Amino acid sequence: MAGFDYDLFVIGAGSGGVRASRIAAGHGARVGICEDDLVGGTCVIRGCVPKKLLVYGSHVAEEVEDAAAYGWTIPHPRFDWPTLRDNVQKEVMRLNGVYKNLLKGAGVELVVGRGRLMDAHTVAVGERIVTADKVLLATGARPWRPDIPGADLAIVSDDAFHLPTLPKRVVIVGGGYIAVEFAGIFNGLGAEVTMVVRRERVLRGFDEDCRQAVQDGMQAKGVAFRTRAQIVRLERRGGAIAATFADDTVLEADVVMYATGRHPNISGLGLDKVGVHLDKAGAVAVDEWSRTTVPSIYAIGDVTNRLNLTPVAIMEGHCFADTVFGNRPRKPDHHDVPSAVFSQPQLATVGLSEEQARRVHGQVHIYEARFRPMKYTLSGREQRTFMKLVVDAASDRVVGVHMAGDDAAELIQGIAIAVKAGATKAIFDATVGIHPTAGEEFVTMRTRRPDPAPAAEAAE
Ligand code: NDP
Repeated sequence: MAGFDYDLFVIGAGSGGVRASRIAAGHGARVGICEDDLVGGTCVIRGCVPKKLLVYGSHVAEEVEDAAAYGWTIPHPRFDWPTLRDNVQKEVMRLNGVYKNLLKGAGVELVVGRGRLMDAHTVAVGERIVTADKVLLATGARPWRPDIPGADLAIVSDDAFHLPTLPKRVVIVGGGYIAVEFAGIFNGLGAEVTMVVRRERVLRGFDEDCRQAVQDGMQAKGVAFRTRAQIVRLERRGGAIAATFADDTVLEADVVMYATGRHPNISGLGLDKVGVHLDKAGAVAVDEWSRTTVPSIYAIGDVTNRLNLTPVAIMEGHCFADTVFGNRPRKPDHHDVPSAVFSQPQLATVGLSEEQARRVHGQVHIYEARFRPMKYTLSGREQRTFMKLVVDAASDRVVGVHMAGDDAAELIQGIAIAVKAGATKAIFDATVGIHPTAGEEFVTMRTRRPDPAPAAEAAE
């Protein structure tokens, strides 16, 4: 390895790349990492972190509204978007500094600029050429939008954090994680939000009952839906944007946001030149050890399009570093990964949906709870929580746990340990609840939903 500048050179200083480089350096490797933007990647700079801060901000209106039932008089509440926007950016900049210090503290050299592969061991970063025994691609993904006339009038989530003013009317296209999260944010902050979804329901791939619970909950909070709808054209009309639908109807908005998915960030990386193959979806093809088709080049995170979540990229990066530099071979485990959507209502899940469980296990038992959380009994807020356990009938193992409602992410994180450990429904039943909480419902569901369950067929 002595002939190379580094033992490892990482392209992309997001969550996965930073973790891999720090762990490899901890194992004694000489590590460099390049980044042409702030350090921290999508999650820290323009994703999970600033998004969740906006979600917190958007909840305040309801808290203030409900305060009266608890005896509080809060005169003239007023929201100021630039204050929230700028405070969020300050936190992003603080975290950028924290990440830079983490790299420095680990002895990883940060090279500013975009990396481009020259050969299997050589990377160009601007004018500088570096060589490394191993190269790790951790470049993430970037927003994609359909190529319709006027598409450039629309924003993507990256831009939403920097809007000069809070729009009064927002149209959000797409029904995935980002679309529903930003619909909740803009709606909570007081904008009029319309979601344009090409199917009947949002969040394809999640448990059907949960999809319905989230959509119903969003509607109850005032988000409007145009389902089975496609926008074919955007045009400027005065100060507004006019969105024309396939059926020729037109909707005007101040901001149109596309959240129609993200594509692996491979452009300009020089992959074809060095023989790194892509899969059918255009992501970097890797094996279970995160090895690409070139033996010295590895890839982790969203650029590989396995399970596009920050903690998964971190796991993949850590496993790579332990395997290649720590003499401790470990493969990332993509089973029973919990995840949450910070929509309003919030959705969190671990394991299989009811529909997946029926396909995998055949007979399953379903336990459900729907209730109004205690917090809303005084204020009378019509907000429901939905919980569901999916149990494999043959083994009694709980193979899926789902929740739509307040604190779903916090609760499911704990439950995920039980699911990962293979807990049975009998163990859930033997666990004493904490009263009064929403979570206790998970250990007190005794009545099975009657079989058969016609709702188990996916709507689409
Ligand atoms: P998703 O893949 O989750 O959703 C994309 C949405 O856009 C789907 O509803 C899809 O519809 C729709 N869509 C795709 N193409 C078109 C089109 N041509 N016209 C209309 N609608 C279209 O992407 P996101 O951008 O929301 O999120 C990207 C990734 O980021 C996700 O994979 C997720 O893992 C990650 N993420 C995770 C978060 C979290 O953990 N909380 C938060 C935010 C993002 P259809 O269902 O019909 O395909």
